[in-house]
Amino acid sequence: MDVSKEVSWDWIGNHLRVKVLFSSAGLATQILVNDIEKDSNFLIDVGDGILRDLVSLPSRYYENIDTILITHGHFDHVGGIFSLLAFFRMINRSKKLLLIAPSDVVEFEGLVKTFYDSYGESIPYQLEIINIEREFELENTLISAFAVQHRGSIIGGEKLPNIPSVGYIISKNAEKILYTGDTGYFDQLKEHVRGVDYALIEGTYKDKRTPFHLTLSEAEEIGKLAKNYQIVHQIMSRGT
Ligand SMILES: [Zn+2]
Ligand SMILES: [Zn+2]
Repeated sequence: MDVSKEVSWDWIGNHLRVKVLFSSAGLATQILVNDIEKDSNFLIDVGDGILRDLVSLPSRYYENIDTILITHGHFDHVGGIFSLLAFFRMINRSKKLLLIAPSDVVEFEGLVKTFYDSYGESIPYQLEIINIEREFELENTLISAFAVQHRGSIIGGEKLPNIPSVGYIISKNAEKILYTGDTGYFDQLKEHVRGVDYALIEGTYKDKRTPFHLTLSEAEEIGKLAKNYQIVHQIMSRGT
């Protein structure tokens, strides 16, 4: 079946392909990664508007979301999770859903708990939460998490409450896709990105430097270390 005509992928590899459904700082980010052989999907981060983004695709793309990866708890990355879980209940999903996140992402955990507490045994699918530390192996795919430098995160947050924040690498048969999540510049980030097949690099600000986000030129400099890259999470004008 040739499914490539139905979705305009941002990148197509031999085993994996990527579509950024939406990404803008302070609004929402959601990225679909498709395992071509299995026709199974990873969704990385779940911001607001996720359902509108998903229903614009052929239904098998949302029916086959089998794994959700969460980078951190900011609302633009988890705000749509309750809607998505409830949508899966409404369409009577029966397949298990795996949710992968660092531990102690309180916003994410709270939203999932509210979903459980609201619907309990009427939830028709199994939900499994994995608190990833470094790696999680999933059949032929390896999910690796790496700590990033974000506001109040594992690396960066001395003066702010500590919240966990990671980037991810999805590897299948030596093909690697990387997503930085939200992060400021730190040297080790270059080593994570170097040589991966496709990198999604946050580039929040045009030129405003902060310890917690990258500028476009920093994002370009880091992205060029990958074989291919795309900048995501640019900030949008919010009017006056
Ligand atoms: Zn963000
Ligand atoms: Zn953030």
